Amino acid sequence: MTPYDAPDTPSTAERPALIDGFGRAVTYLRVSVTDRCDLRCTYCMAEHMTFLPKAEVLTLEELDHVASTFVGLGVRKLRLTGGEPLMRKGFMDLVGGLSRHLKSGALDELTLTTNGTRLAEFAEGLAAAGVRRINVSLDSLKPEVFRRLTRGGDVAKVIGGIDAALAAGLKVKINAVALKDDNAADIPELIKWAHTRGCDMTLIETMPMGEIDEDRTDQYISLGSVKADLTSYWTLTDLRYTTGGPSRYVRVEETGGRLGFITPMSHNFCELCNRVRLTCTGTLHTCLGREDASDLRAVIRAGGDLEAAIHAAIGTKPKGHDFQIGRGVGPSVTRHMSTTGG
Ligand code: SAM
Ligand code: SF4
Repeated sequence: MTPYDAPDTPSTAERPALIDGFGRAVTYLRVSVTDRCDLRCTYCMAEHMTFLPKAEVLTLEELDHVASTFVGLGVRKLRLTGGEPLMRKGFMDLVGGLSRHLKSGALDELTLTTNGTRLAEFAEGLAAAGVRRINVSLDSLKPEVFRRLTRGGDVAKVIGGIDAALAAGLKVKINAVALKDDNAADIPELIKWAHTRGCDMTLIETMPMGEIDEDRTDQYISLGSVKADLTSYWTLTDLRYTTGGPSRYVRVEETGGRLGFITPMSHNFCELCNRVRLTCTGTLHTCLGREDASDLRAVIRAGGDLEAAIHAAIGTKPKGHDFQIGRGVGPSVTRHMSTTGG
């Protein structure tokens, strides 16, 4: 079965909602389509990573099947991520196939999070497939800092990718992880740059996921202190705007743009969590910050009842994450963000 001859989504009336044990409706699935990446961001990956053998990774057809089953169970938003999603061979076939759920009205949004290095090649195809907005991760505009943070990346390619996406009519949100030494001082410049291009910007606190080559405590900075610093020279007005996610938005009056803060470490927002994450091996994680895992690949490869397995997994979604950061405290979860799909 190819993504194109996969069954259409069942009508809404037939679709039972996914509700977890705490009454939260799960309407958002993030799918990591590969664990591989062309960059090695220092806070995300170790320099030398061992990537998964192909047999362990879901095929494009399997990814479509699992994602479409979630849509059939009431998921309204799909985000494709990774690793770097644009590195996955056949990625546009997957997007093209999944876009049938946009056309049927079963899905409100099909989107992706990318590092942007290959966006110039893909932007027009994404827009043609019905993708409307994307997140691009960019932690510094300075070529030297970007190269060091990503262990070899070229910021010009990312900027070119963002410009191509904007030219193709995509809305772009820029995501940056705030790092005390590496980019905290440059954050205002990054915000101004994003807002000048009409892009929203979101700042993220570094999360203790997976072993990396350094101690994250050295680079952790609370967004509360970043916000206090910005407030000393900008006027930040709280907004009621939400994308249904954990980001809390303000308007920067001086730039006219929106700025979001994702603060998993300093402020827990789990009571509103509506999302689950599928890895490229078909493991379902119902919480970013817990070790819980359900093996959906085993279910589909054995011809088992996928819907029942998904319902069972959602029933175990924990109340909240358990992230802790501090000197000598290891990662709160052993898997990397690139495995879970950020
Ligand atoms: N490669 C794509 C990218 O960089 O946008 C998609 C995958 S990446 C894992 C998704 C997001 O997770 C990126 O914005 C990245 O900055 C963020 N991220 C990775 N590791 C993180 C960590 N330990 N704490 C907080 N954010 C992290
Ligand atoms: Fe790759 Fe994204 Fe992780 Fe950077 S954050 S190493 S781009 S997966």
